[in-house]
Amino acid sequence: MTDNPLVLGVDLGGSKILAAVVNAKGEVLSSDRRTTPAAKGPEAVIQAMLSSMKRAIDQAAIKAAELEAICIGAPGLSNPETGVIFTSPHLPGWKDVPLRESIEGKMGVKTLLINDANAAALGEMYFGVARGARNFIYITISTGIGGGIVIDGQIYAGSTGTAGEIGHMTIDSNGPKCNCGNTGCWETLASGTALAREARKRIKSGAETSIVDYAGGDIDKVNAEAVHKAARRGDALAKELIVQTGYYIGVGLASLINIFNPELIIIGGGLSSIGDMLLEPAYKVAEERAYRVAFDSVRFARPALGRNSGVIGAAAYAFRKIEKSKK
Ligand SMILES: [Zn+2]
Repeated sequence: MTDNPLVLGVDLGGSKILAAVVNAKGEVLSSDRRTTPAAKGPEAVIQAMLSSMKRAIDQAAIKAAELEAICIGAPGLSNPETGVIFTSPHLPGWKDVPLRESIEGKMGVKTLLINDANAAALGEMYFGVARGARNFIYITISTGIGGGIVIDGQIYAGSTGTAGEIGHMTIDSNGPKCNCGNTGCWETLASGTALAREARKRIKSGAETSIVDYAGGDIDKVNAEAVHKAARRGDALAKELIVQTGYYIGVGLASLINIFNPELIIIGGGLSSIGDMLLEPAYKVAEERAYRVAFDSVRFARPALGRNSGVIGAAAYAFRKIEKSKK
């Protein structure tokens, strides 16, 4: 490695792509953020990723050849060893896509692939709120729920690299249908999508509420943000629905606490920005349901790196891989 090694971290999301040149201290030197053309399929998304990466490289005033590596944090099920994405619920048309090979071929730089929630967990472990923690779980709650599980200082990847899909643990065996094919998964009850679905259902059945005013008067456009806005202005139904979502978050947290006995749980992702109104009920339900001794040893935190945790974590993963390969 040179004196100032650089890595390009990429956070591929269902709605946004973020590419950033990051140094070994976890500092972002330049970044490019753009919309993911998810509906146009894998080829269009890969093109957008390449454009975003090139822009971040240009802005850092370096050449691609000066990068030690590129590391992509991607959603869904993937194998970090082979670099293939099996499937991704928020990226339509992605089935067995050899993403790593594709990017490496086009960029001419060694490329690595990691799950996006695992990347965010690593970012927080090396540079954020999980510094010093050995056993913790990073949870991202947005349209779905993702997770990165760290056991004894290492990401737990499972036998083929797909572990940590905590959003797909069954909470209600007769619950709503999930994108994964199962029913009643945690993310069908405790995500932003779930909150919006429940709001639309209650509005359609005639509930008195101002929620629809925050969605341009269109019931079909009601999303989690509209519910949050209405709740902040005192709308009773909006508040009730957020507390209910918090309840389901807590039910899932209790299981994670009982199974993993973590010292720390970090809750990030778009929906979690609702804050106390959502999370206080979640912590209360977790406390009521989990084993006392396990609950007493866990600390809850918000991510310290904000929206950069994914790119910084992907870069940190690449730096550790490079170090290991040189030993
Ligand atoms: Zn599921």
